[in-house]
Amino acid sequence: MNIFKLLQFIAPTFHIKDQAKRSNQWNKIRKQYLKEHPQCAVCFKKAKIVHHITPFHIDPSKELDPNNLIGFCETQHHILFGHLMHWKSYNEKGIEDSIHMKNQIANRPNIVI
Ligand SMILES: [Zn+2]
Ligand SMILES: [Zn+2]
Repeated sequence: MNIFKLLQFIAPTFHIKDQAKRSNQWNKIRKQYLKEHPQCAVCFKKAKIVHHITPFHIDPSKELDPNNLIGFCETQHHILFGHLMHWKSYNEKGIEDSIHMKNQIANRPNIVI
């Protein structure tokens, strides 16, 4: 059990979000990630959003971990594949789901008119 889960267990109303501070390296890491991963994880559009697969408030130690990051083009792909349609939730299988959908798009049937 990590310290944040422990604190939540001891005092459920404790605002863990306020306890950990965002790193001043985040902006740099975010830009670097977009440079190395210019495409949305789901479709083939340009990535603009860098999302944390495990949210910062759950595990702040993964804030700058590139394995915990994924890039999305826009809000629709971000909220669906990153947050399962609710900003307060998150998708632990964000990478697998995105790869699967991207393959589906790449291999979609041709439209025959
Ligand atoms: Zn997100
Ligand atoms: Zn996209």
